Amino acid sequence: MIVKKLKFLDGRTDEVSMRPVWFLTEREYNALRNDDGGFCLACEAEAYEIEPDARRLKCESCGERRVYGIEWMLTIGRVEIVGEVGTEEPAEVST
Ligand SMILES: [Zn+2]
Repeated sequence: MIVKKLKFLDGRTDEVSMRPVWFLTEREYNALRNDDGGFCLACEAEAYEIEPDARRLKCESCGERRVYGIEWMLTIGRVEIVGEVGTEEPAEVST
């Protein structure tokens, strides 16, 4: 489990410990960035149409004010950009 404590210069701290980190490829990150995406740190739901640096927005799924924009999540270490995996995703089969 990755534990990170973020301390701001003005003395505030942010709760970034003991929580999941999203591992995204650069392509996934850019897609979320273009869609104004983010995640809820409480229930891990995806959020859209929020500012990239949004913080503590209300989650439509769980109601917690734990929705963060994708850029901010990267800033606080909750998103990490990883390299592309060598294998292609299996193509979706439409029925
Ligand atoms: Zn939520």
